[in-house]
Amino acid sequence: MTCESCERDNLEKCYFCRECYFQALSRIQNLSIVQIRNNLTCDELFPETVQTRMGDYLINEVNECLRCLDNGLWTAATCMSARIFENQLKYYVRRNYNRYFESIFACIDFLERMGYPDYNIEKFDSLRRLRNDAMHATYEFNQDDSIYTAKLVFQLTLTIFSSKPQLY
Ligand SMILES: [Zn+2]
Repeated sequence: MTCESCERDNLEKCYFCRECYFQALSRIQNLSIVQIRNNLTCDELFPETVQTRMGDYLINEVNECLRCLDNGLWTAATCMSARIFENQLKYYVRRNYNRYFESIFACIDFLERMGYPDYNIEKFDSLRRLRNDAMHATYEFNQDDSIYTAKLVFQLTLTIFSSKPQLY
């Protein structure tokens, strides 16, 4: 199998080779407010084949999150990120484990019991807390918080849609 964006061999369990995957990842990690204010859209942020798998609904959600950030609506942007995160994680568990959980907490708990790597569980857990803060408006988000959250969620999206489904 070859990488979906170049001719090199792809990584195991991934549609891309190491170089292309990390290139896509660093585009998200280096995402700045300047780029967002330049009317950045989902199609400039994710590789084409990833977007094809994401589907229109998710693409619209990402674009809406970017527009909230563009307009300085930090709490709204974090709510959008949280919603994307929740849907992604549920989708991931359903696709890879054929299980569905109503709550995000149950999803994370399940992944932990399945031996999912600790550093990812910690990331999910911190996103879950951010999600609660955003939903219950217990905390007023600033620019750095909301961009940080969006980046984490976009990274998760990239990881999910560039990896091949694995049934455990
Ligand atoms: Zn490649």
